Amino acid sequence: MKLSLIVPCYNEEAALPIFYREVTKVMATLSCEYELLFINDGSRDGTLSCMKELARTDKHVKYISFSRNFGKEAGMYAGFCNADGDYVAVMDADMQDPPALLPQMLEILQNGEYDSVATRRVSRVGEPVIRSWFARKFYQIINKISDADVVDGARDFRLMKREMVEAIVAMAEQNRFSKGIFGWIGFRTCWLPYENVERVAGETKWSFWKLFKYAIDGIVNFSQVPLSIASWSGLLLTGCSVLALLFIVIRRLAYGDPVAGWASTICVIIFIGGVQLAALGIMGQYIAKTYLEVKKRPHYIVAESNRENVERIR
Ligand code: UDP
Ligand code: MG
Repeated sequence: MKLSLIVPCYNEEAALPIFYREVTKVMATLSCEYELLFINDGSRDGTLSCMKELARTDKHVKYISFSRNFGKEAGMYAGFCNADGDYVAVMDADMQDPPALLPQMLEILQNGEYDSVATRRVSRVGEPVIRSWFARKFYQIINKISDADVVDGARDFRLMKREMVEAIVAMAEQNRFSKGIFGWIGFRTCWLPYENVERVAGETKWSFWKLFKYAIDGIVNFSQVPLSIASWSGLLLTGCSVLALLFIVIRRLAYGDPVAGWASTICVIIFIGGVQLAALGIMGQYIAKTYLEVKKRPHYIVAESNRENVERIR
């Protein structure tokens, strides 16, 4: 039995040695074959040389280094495409995904009842209040309008069986939103709650704005509801305007034509214009995604690796 740990890293030279030390300690207690599959996502610091250094002394350490920064989603995808363990886990390099949970997760899977063990933060200690609020709202909305089934506080940290990994690799979409993908493919998942841990070193790569865009991506990737909202509000407005027209015609016939209402006319024009632009914008979001999908560009490009038969471009 082999365990593959996928660790996407972007500028993690400070956290990497700590992560390596802790994870190796845990793996030593497990006595199973394993590999640490580090993905260097185009880091600009010493992350890659740190990986090479670790690989020199420890044959469990494998690295795949991208030609530039492709984002964590691409990093995870590269991991899934190349990991060959019977069990595969994704972990952050910053210790926010406690390696100490691994033995318990493995045990749950080996008992056979579940196909994957996922983790969920029950608190968001150490996170800005407004960020938590937006996060909660995001989970409420996406669960209402899509069938992706995303759990609030879910981390990408999960351990899964080979079958599940194959399903994930088969979801070869360009616009990746792993939390949605994990939920969409199904399988029996056991949720393991834990208290939030702050990162040990370095700083987060996610600004509020980046997270916000990621959330919008998540919704557009897994739901067509915004498109329906656009068309339904269009229909509703058309209905309203027909009523208003009838009202005006009748008033004209009954009371003549007093010249008034310039301001209200402008208001209506601006309102309709705004709604049209918004609807166009929503359509644009989907068209842009379609454009990206049909181009079928690779998800990532590998510049170097110490692993045999790496899929260099995928
Ligand atoms: N990461 C990555 N590519 C990126 C951004 C982040 O591989 O473009 C990695 C990062 O090195 C870390 C994980 O993704 O291992 C989670 O990132 P981070 O801790 O910054 O996110 P947070 O935990 O704050 O959500
Ligand atoms: Mg983190």
